[in-house]
Amino acid sequence: MTTTSEHRVFDGICVSPGIGIGRAFAYDKQAPVITRQRVAQHLVGEEIERFRNILHQAGDEIRRIRRWVASEQGEELAQIFDAQLAMLEDPSIIKRTETLILEKHYSAERAYAEELEKVKEAFGSIENEYLRARVSDIADIENQVLMRLAGGEVKALDSLRANTIVLAHDLLPSEMVRLERRRIKGVVLDAGGAASHAAIIARSLQLPTVVGTRDCSQQVADGDLVVVDGNEGQVHLRPDTLGERRYRARRQRQLRRERDLERRRNLPAVTQDGQEIALMANVDVQTEVQMALDNGASGVGMYRTEFLYLNYRLPSEEEQFKVYSALVESLVPHPVVIRTMDLGGDKLSHVLEVPPEANPFLGWRGIRICLDTPELFKTQLRALLRAGTHGEAQILLPMISSLNELRRVRVLVEEAKDELRAAGRPFAEHCKLGIMVEVPSVALMADHFADEVDFFSLGTNDLTQYALAVDRGMSKVAWLYDPFHPAVLRLIKMVADSGRRTNTPVSICGEMAGDPLATTLLLGLGLDCLSLSPGLIPEVKEVIRAIHAEKARQVADECLAMDTGAEVRQHLEDVVGEYMPFWRQRHN
Ligand code: PEP
Ligand code: MG
Repeated sequence: MTTTSEHRVFDGICVSPGIGIGRAFAYDKQAPVITRQRVAQHLVGEEIERFRNILHQAGDEIRRIRRWVASEQGEELAQIFDAQLAMLEDPSIIKRTETLILEKHYSAERAYAEELEKVKEAFGSIENEYLRARVSDIADIENQVLMRLAGGEVKALDSLRANTIVLAHDLLPSEMVRLERRRIKGVVLDAGGAASHAAIIARSLQLPTVVGTRDCSQQVADGDLVVVDGNEGQVHLRPDTLGERRYRARRQRQLRRERDLERRRNLPAVTQDGQEIALMANVDVQTEVQMALDNGASGVGMYRTEFLYLNYRLPSEEEQFKVYSALVESLVPHPVVIRTMDLGGDKLSHVLEVPPEANPFLGWRGIRICLDTPELFKTQLRALLRAGTHGEAQILLPMISSLNELRRVRVLVEEAKDELRAAGRPFAEHCKLGIMVEVPSVALMADHFADEVDFFSLGTNDLTQYALAVDRGMSKVAWLYDPFHPAVLRLIKMVADSGRRTNTPVSICGEMAGDPLATTLLLGLGLDCLSLSPGLIPEVKEVIRAIHAEKARQVADECLAMDTGAEVRQHLEDVVGEYMPFWRQRHN
């Protein structure tokens, strides 16, 4: 942390657009320093009492946050905190801590810290992805409990002042969801890439966010003025008065533009030459459902169900049925595409033991986990099939890489139906079944897959990572991660062409669908259905309404023939700037 007043600029990756101006809150997950090591023998009883009280306080606090997240963002995300509560209230950890106080006369903070250190070591040595999240959960609890025991200030993400910019090395999904949209003006994360989970949640919450800023969070002091430019991927620490004024003016223009877009949000998404484009919503948090409806989404193009599994307990068929049917009902008469659990990679579950993997994104992930845990998978399929009686639910399979997988899923779907029939439960007999096209093998063989699926959904976040061999969440190689790379565009084109030839609907639900710079290109590549974060719908619709489909096709052909992603981006900037004068102003 620094005490300088010098103006510093950090370049990073823009993951959620907009300009945020506010005062810094540096979130540091370091455990507090323990100064009080021992207690006198006659005070041991009191010390244990104190420890129990603090655990209760911390538990109450986590429950309060859980309630708040449940009401603001939905039960799925709130369940993340059950994991923390289970850890906090783990009787064996409590007992071992109390034994240390009792027998060794350690202070409660020393005893608890030692105990948690052992737990962290045990998890850390297993070295698998999902346990990494548990280590961070422990660090979170450690911070909350030890700070209280040591009499320090608990740096909480959920009770920040108004107009705060949060800067951290990284944030877990459980931490991201605690950020209160009304108070937080922006987020800066030193780690991470554009497609990391934290980034996706930031977009869902519509928080201007820049990631991959190296050591920016170390160079700021609490209270420093910070500007987060989510459009350009820049962070300004302690800007001078002139710089601040310039950004405030830009922000005003942005707000005016948002208001303007809001007034026009009911206009249809039709190109100048009359081509209709379906804009659907990606839904990760519950508040997005209302936003999707407000912004005129024609359904939900992808609902990520992973959040239901980020818990210590598996969601039952009934619990899932409730969530899915409520979602489907709220969107009637529009379809809701529900993606089956896509765990593994950077999506961590507390309930599934994922063995150590050198390359988690190439390992036990998505449909591979589902097929290896058929009972778990069929529980979800039954809930989905039942929800299909409440409106139009469609099933979307993640991480498919071969036809064998798809065929095995079909067998399980039939088994799930038989089970429902036997139990006398009503379900949708003809629920549509589609696949994510996010592994290049599927794009290359789309014609073959088309015979056996009802629809394709292009997952360009992973398609980019697998086509370019770049870890989507790693800041070190983030400069190579580029969905505009002509190789990715060629894969998209193959799928769009195949869809047209075989009459198979193709949509795109990767983050690229919400980038207005990509809109012309995607339409030109032949896509007429985009699924995106609902907050981004108005901006993308504006581009659609300004372009000619014929011109978009020409632009896409030009891009396909280019050498690099940078050339493609520059070309799109130039082209879009021509027919949308405000496009250039947006960045000034
Ligand atoms: C994708 O890979 O493009 C996608 C939408 O799925 P996720 O980001 O959840 O992996
Ligand atoms: Mg994916």
